Amino acid sequence: MDATAIKKWLELFTVKVNEEKAYLSDLDGAIGDGDHGMNMARGTTEMQAAMEAKNPETPADIFKLAGMTLVSKVGGASGPLYGSAFIGMAKAAKDSDDLAEILKAGLDGIQKRGKAEIGEKTMVDTWAPVIASLENGDLTIEKVEEIVEATKPIIATKGRASYLGERSVGHLDPGAVSSGYLFKTMIEAGV
Ligand code: ADP
Ligand code: MG
Ligand code: MG
Repeated sequence: MDATAIKKWLELFTVKVNEEKAYLSDLDGAIGDGDHGMNMARGTTEMQAAMEAKNPETPADIFKLAGMTLVSKVGGASGPLYGSAFIGMAKAAKDSDDLAEILKAGLDGIQKRGKAEIGEKTMVDTWAPVIASLENGDLTIEKVEEIVEATKPIIATKGRASYLGERSVGHLDPGAVSSGYLFKTMIEAGV
């Protein structure tokens, strides 16, 4: 894994999340409490500032700093979940150079923290199929978009959206959409 490409990835992700801040919060307004864009914009901006201040040099150190910053700076569910993902990825990046293996450790971190399975309308519904597609060798930006779109018909059974039950149907999951940005920018950065 190339540390420069990983830094570029996180920078592109931060830019994308900040551009789409209002959209992400609108999505969350429909099935949650309307703060996902704000949470992610704050978290990623703090993450970028930490990268510039500390300039970590190895993939493991970059992921670790990203994870620690997201856990500590984001109040909502998404901060600890993304944070656990990056911290899991940091541990995996010490032993492995394989992107799919590292992302699997990230998904594992999300699931240990949030206990969501596939099909509960959460960010897990982006992470799991993206990793499967990467392993299958057919991951593209279009594929990421299809995966995110597929969260629309799901009935939420985890997170705030689960309070709506069937009324969550027909809406994209905000965390699945922001995770879609994470994987699209990963592809764009050439990680
Ligand atoms: P909050 O719900 O605390 O306001 P956010 O709005 O920032 O936090 O994040 C909401 C997103 O977090 C959801 O769209 C969903 O993708 C994700 N999420 C919530 N709970 C879980 C969970 N238990 N496991 C995985 N992802 C979850
Ligand atoms: Mg919210
Ligand atoms: Mg909230």
